[in-house]
Amino acid sequence: YKKIGVLTSGGDSPGMNAALRAVVRTCNYYDINCYGIRMGYDGLINDHIVELGPRSVKNLINKGGTELKSARSEEFRTVEGRKKAAETIKKHGIEALVVIGGDGSFTGAMKLYEEQGVPFIGIPGTIDNDIFGTDYTVGYDTALNTVAEAIDKIRDTATSHNRVFFIEVMGRDAGFIALNTGIATGALDILIPEEKDSIEDLFQSFDNAKKKGKTSSIIVVAEGDKLGGVYDLAKFTKMKYPEFDVRVTVLGHIQRGGSPTVADRVLASRLGVAAVEGLIDGRCCVMAGMQSSKIVFTPIEEAIKKHNEIDKELIKVSNILSMQ
Ligand code: ATP
Repeated sequence: YKKIGVLTSGGDSPGMNAALRAVVRTCNYYDINCYGIRMGYDGLINDHIVELGPRSVKNLINKGGTELKSARSEEFRTVEGRKKAAETIKKHGIEALVVIGGDGSFTGAMKLYEEQGVPFIGIPGTIDNDIFGTDYTVGYDTALNTVAEAIDKIRDTATSHNRVFFIEVMGRDAGFIALNTGIATGALDILIPEEKDSIEDLFQSFDNAKKKGKTSSIIVVAEGDKLGGVYDLAKFTKMKYPEFDVRVTVLGHIQRGGSPTVADRVLASRLGVAAVEGLIDGRCCVMAGMQSSKIVFTPIEEAIKKHNEIDKELIKVSNILSMQ
């Protein structure tokens, strides 16, 4: 390849910039011109493209968000939109893409390949860690640390006032953030979409906590939990235990921001190098991921369709430790 394009798409995540820097510098190392596409797939459709050299990504490795900006492009979901995108790609002589994003972004890239023959490699960039083919996605570790820091602060006030806090964390379909931060912050209970929790189980946790003399509690709830959301949970809890001082905190978008952790910077750097080298080696339509500390390429259909299972051992750990 002589010209490779790179874009960030879908929800942003900390470490996307570190991945971008790695892609740009690896291209330069192999004498490939690298083009940054701004605003995700919208940038392809509207021709927002800039050539990037190794110096243009200086001071980026520690920056949150994405310098290229991201977007959710409705037009790219149409065949017409993807045709326009292909015209821009052709106009600049770009021969392949590195797509940093989540499963939606990979689905779009796959369609562009099937319809227009543009090869690509994906890098999993999302805080949710819900992509098959990698142990961790870029941004997940940073999000875990952000959430844990926030819950630690809430714990201080929870303990001072004997309060019960329901804390909603991100994860519409996946409970990885909730489960791991719940363990890390000593939550009394953790509610995730993958588990069939009942309100009775939750009340049992409260009863048990009361028996053990606990005076404050933290319940970590994933956005996509099936029990009805933090506000309903708080309402039902207050009805059952009028003596509890029940509060709700929705952590929201702070979870997506901030300077990436070392783990995310290293992961992003490795996957950025791997993606460019993968393209050079003739790979296509795969995702560069990391499994057991090794780089692994997974066919994009698998990355999209399959799902990482929640580790039952983690649920056991949480249960054993929170019921004492
Ligand atoms: P996150 O996991 O953070 O939400 P994502 O990559 O899954 O990231 P999406 O909004 O689902 O985020 O997808 C990003 C973009 O990819 C969409 O705005 C759209 O342009 C494109 N895309 C998603 N799904 C499709 C599809 N089925 N066909 C074509 N393009 C798609």
